[in-house]
Amino acid sequence: MKRIAVLTSGGDAPGMNACIRSVVLTALHFGYQVYGFRHGYNGLVDNEIELLTMQQVRHIIQKGGTLLKSARCSKFKTESGIKLAAKHLDAAEIDALIVIGGDGSLRGMMHLSKYWQGQLIGIPGTIDNDLSGSDNTIGFQTATETVIDAIDKLRDTADAFERIFMVEVMGRDAGFIALSSGIASGAEQIIYPEGLKDIHQELDCIIQHVESARKLHGRSSYIIVISENLWPGGAYDLSQVLTEQIGIECRPVILGHIQRGGCPNGFDRILATKLGVFAVEAIKNGHSLMMVGEISNELTLTAISDCVNNKKPVDKKLSDIQAKVFDSVEILSNCT
Ligand code: ADP
Repeated sequence: MKRIAVLTSGGDAPGMNACIRSVVLTALHFGYQVYGFRHGYNGLVDNEIELLTMQQVRHIIQKGGTLLKSARCSKFKTESGIKLAAKHLDAAEIDALIVIGGDGSLRGMMHLSKYWQGQLIGIPGTIDNDLSGSDNTIGFQTATETVIDAIDKLRDTADAFERIFMVEVMGRDAGFIALSSGIASGAEQIIYPEGLKDIHQELDCIIQHVESARKLHGRSSYIIVISENLWPGGAYDLSQVLTEQIGIECRPVILGHIQRGGCPNGFDRILATKLGVFAVEAIKNGHSLMMVGEISNELTLTAISDCVNNKKPVDKKLSDIQAKVFDSVEILSNCT
């Protein structure tokens, strides 16, 4: 009988619980024993292991967060830490490990493969959607809906006071959340890494967008969605620069960790369930060092190295749309 283990690592994402449930139920279906390591890779290093049962995963499909907890683990990046992790996996006679996490967590699997001989299967779980090998990562769609909901609320108050808001969203180094939520909320401007060459050089352009909209519509609400990590000091500092240069107050809103929380939406629950089943099947079929994903509605297996080393592009159709639906199109096209 195979013994498989599962853990959730790195930034938590809505749908991780749905995925754990799917892994556990599928493993039990095939007659495997299934274990959970708690707190991401810390669980491997510190040997925090528990047997998972059908009972434990009942009624968690709709819950945000992760039953197994998640964490970052600096020890796992050291040789002594990873050797300890491999030792604990061997001591528990684990044949295969499933890691649900983002880019860093998958890099960790590649690192572990040098010290541990068992099968390794990754499942993309991150709100950032920045992994090649799957159109969507678990959590991305829910996080995007959370952002849209927040911006809709901001729009009401922005309209009432004819204010300019700069809304900073997550995404690490990728603009998936910014682009999708910005388009869906009708933001006047979306600033995201893939759409920029150098934000410092394009600052005039960003300012011109705001000024041209004010010329076109007079005093009116104006919402800028901006990805995190684009400006030193983030939206707090950049909105201050805009306030000084435009002469109209620009208010920052940092959505922060609310983007990671909440119940997964239907899309993420279904994706998590499909990928959980497929990951256990991949183990049954003898695969290793692969990530499960879904591309154009087909379940896929992609080498983990390709998933983390190939930068996933944002949807070109979406970036093209952005230029067309913005009110001050002339300014935009002059600038970009
Ligand atoms: P995410 O998986 O959400 O991208 P992180 O980038 O923080 O989150 O990575 C999660 C964990 O994966 C890290 O805390 C570390 O334990 C492990 N990890 C990340 N990169 C590596 C690496 N190059 N080698 C070994 N472990 C890594």
